[in-house]
Amino acid sequence: MSLDATRIPRNARIAIIGAGPAGLSAAWFLEKHGFENVTVLEKLGRVGGLCKSITIKGMSYDLGANYLTWAYEETLKIADEVGADTYKELPYTSIEVNEEGTSARYRPIEEAVLYNPLTKKKIPFYSFMWTAIRYFFIRLGLSDVIDCPDYLAKINKRTHPELCKSFRDWLVDNDLDDLTSLLEFPITIMGYGQLRHIATPYALRYMSPKTFFPMVAPHIPLIGPILEIFLPWPRRFITGFQRLWERVAWRTNVRQNIKIKSIKRNESGTDAPFVIDFDYLQQELNTVEAAPGTMHFDYLVMACPLTQDIYDQLNLKRTPGEAIFDRIHVHPYCMTTYWVDDMDMPQPIAPVLPLSPLGKPWAVARQFQHKGNKFTQFYTRTRESQTIEEMNEDERNVKEEVKKLIGLLGGKIDDTHSRWHSYDRFTYFQHVEVEDIADGFYEKLAELQGKDRTFYVGGATDFELVEPIVQHSKHLVEKHFVGD
Ligand SMILES: Cc1cc2nc3c(=O)[nH]c(=O)nc-3n(C[C@H](O)[C@H](O)[C@H](O)COP(=O)(O)OP(=O)(O)OC[C@H]3O[C@@H](n4cnc5c(N)ncnc54)[C@H](O)[C@@H]3O)c2cc1C
Repeated sequence: MSLDATRIPRNARIAIIGAGPAGLSAAWFLEKHGFENVTVLEKLGRVGGLCKSITIKGMSYDLGANYLTWAYEETLKIADEVGADTYKELPYTSIEVNEEGTSARYRPIEEAVLYNPLTKKKIPFYSFMWTAIRYFFIRLGLSDVIDCPDYLAKINKRTHPELCKSFRDWLVDNDLDDLTSLLEFPITIMGYGQLRHIATPYALRYMSPKTFFPMVAPHIPLIGPILEIFLPWPRRFITGFQRLWERVAWRTNVRQNIKIKSIKRNESGTDAPFVIDFDYLQQELNTVEAAPGTMHFDYLVMACPLTQDIYDQLNLKRTPGEAIFDRIHVHPYCMTTYWVDDMDMPQPIAPVLPLSPLGKPWAVARQFQHKGNKFTQFYTRTRESQTIEEMNEDERNVKEEVKKLIGLLGGKIDDTHSRWHSYDRFTYFQHVEVEDIADGFYEKLAELQGKDRTFYVGGATDFELVEPIVQHSKHLVEKHFVGD
């Protein structure tokens, strides 16, 4: 299609709210298609959203998103173009804490996953492998349904009743529940919820053949170690995930430190469908001052969470159609970091299996462990607390639990004055319940796209991982802006 044949004029003034992967990839694809008037408005003084990286002593650590798999085709194309390089992460180990919580040990990941927490039985290796092979082929057969950016809009109780259930039920129905411990690692431990809660379409989108195969292939007898050499996954960005988005932002009109005061639709007395009032930090040499501003736009792309608190922040009145966003939930997920001495991890990432209750560390990671790094990260899911006091209480408890685990693993926190330490509470994984998917939530969301000149990208539109989000931004631009 020629650039002139776009549905929306190429000089349209387009505002994108949020400079995370969704907003920046939407801007990237719009600009690739010749849209020349795209402005990304970001409230923070940095881009990347939940892709947050820090650099210490020349090494970059990801505090938010960090892994890429073989399935990250669109993300890797962008990375290639902007020159963001990756390295292969080493395999996993696992940590077992005894029931009393008085001792912990590392154990090979194979040992941890050969246990079915539903039946409370150990699984013979051949039976596990057979189940994994069956999952691989069942999932391959679902590729046409799942592996496309608008897949969720096509799933409801009429079209796919077999998928409108929790992932645990789907696994049991397909006699695949021997994979529970294996799948709890990427799904539950990485913050997406218990398998008995997460809706099957999300879990299947995540566990695509390209992501699942490298998780299992190294354990295949005899050929496993050879396959591992030829399967260079998972990977991480050498300079961190955030830096990928910084590189993208260099080529885009991004305005950071923008505090949006209001977004008004169809304001009378102006030619613009959207009027955005904001305060921004203006720097003149050594002077930094907040200054007010107003911008006019023809289209709005919401690339921030679609929850009511964000609409309140933006002072943006919801349209009647947007009332469906009340169905969206998010999960609190914490990353705590310390420099830890005397704790020698056999591999750089270790899930704690079987799962312990909320508030205890669920995974421990040491990026660049092969370079002698001691900066250690602890992933924890907390309760969905609402008040500041509850969040502060959770932070205290999480840090205590982290310190306890460090002690059980023989480590010592290096709290030298200059040592970096962090605690971040991310709210992520915008999702709806199984019943909402069955009732056609995503069909309604797809119908909203473009209504009132407003579009939606990001975690609310696809599964909350960078690649599906980037794919969805690309799809949205091609379908609604270009008309492909
Ligand atoms: C601990 C952790 C680990 C993860 N690991 C992985 C991983 O290994 N691989 C992977 O693919 N994904 C991972 N993810 C998920 C990934 O980070 C998200 O899917 C992705 O960042 C979502 O992109 P987004 O642009 O939709 O939203 P976000 O990243 O949340 O970006 C939204 C942006 O909107 C901005 N914004 C919000 N409100 C306003 C406002 N009022 N005005 C202006 N701007 C606003 C925010 O500041 C932010 O920059 C992980 C996430 C976490 C938290």
